[in-house]
Amino acid sequence: MKILVVGSVAYDSIRTPKGRRDRQLGGSASYFSVAASYFAEVSVVAVVGQDFHPRDTRLLESRGIDLSTLERAQGNTFRWTGQYKDDLNAAITLDTQLNVFEDFRPSLNPAQARAPYLFLANIDPAHQHAVLDAMADSPRMVACDTMNLWIDTARPELERLFPKTDALLINEAEAKQLTGNSTFAEAAHKLLDSGIHSLVIKRGEHGAALFNRDFIFATPAMPLSNVIDPTGAGDSFAGGFMGYLAATNDQRPAALRTAVVAGSVMASFAVEAFGLERLADLSQDDIRERFDEFIRMTRFGPEEGASQLPLLNF
Ligand code: AMP
Repeated sequence: MKILVVGSVAYDSIRTPKGRRDRQLGGSASYFSVAASYFAEVSVVAVVGQDFHPRDTRLLESRGIDLSTLERAQGNTFRWTGQYKDDLNAAITLDTQLNVFEDFRPSLNPAQARAPYLFLANIDPAHQHAVLDAMADSPRMVACDTMNLWIDTARPELERLFPKTDALLINEAEAKQLTGNSTFAEAAHKLLDSGIHSLVIKRGEHGAALFNRDFIFATPAMPLSNVIDPTGAGDSFAGGFMGYLAATNDQRPAALRTAVVAGSVMASFAVEAFGLERLADLSQDDIRERFDEFIRMTRFGPEEGASQLPLLNF
């Protein structure tokens, strides 16, 4: 197995301007693992409750995702209720029920403890620490995500976690919340100054940007004409990003830039339907075509036949 993820497997109830769904399969680990599964083998460490439906197990397994450490505990699966109003980039949390996550103690099998790529998806930072501490070998890459709830309630744990990771993937609002800065670029520079090695800021419909000590790379988002449900876009981005890096086993600048585009491609599919309805049902051609669209959309400059900037001498 190439990628190990710890995160939430959830039943989400969601309202967007395009409709609503009750108790659909979601959670950070679900979106991440489905998106990453198109690139590399993924194994999930998480917990669900007695109410977890066999249909949802089948859906994840149909993508080849290893669920041998998806624990089934007494009680209900984690529940999240959210709403998007006019700003589809901002999820409003209406209710969070940790349920089986309250007593969860992640435990890894020996193969998982040697996974070369580790993603600490959005979940209580205590669980992120527990999985990181349980790794037998130091992974080739550790990346993590978080959300406003944990920044509000568990900031010291997050601040201890970040220096132990190679990359932090967060959204623009979270970067601003973490640093107190009011532009995403200022927030990014402050986070790099605080010791974070690589940072990807997800900006919803405005795209994504990668900052590290050597370079900056930014891409727009696919300009979609019908966004149905933005839930899981960030986790799907992370799945495409880590999936690409794990599949190529390359972390040089060109690979990191392409991974940001692979993440943007997977996020663009996630938002085109509710839950995992579209993301879990893609063909290789779907993914390749959209990747090519990104290349066409962002290509410019002298190699395209355009001249250098024709500035007047003054
Ligand atoms: P995203 O839209 O990519 O930021 O992530 C959405 C997913 O995060 C939803 O499927 C939720 O189930 C999950 N989620 C929401 N709140 C939490 C939380 N406090 N801990 C872990 N996962 C959460």
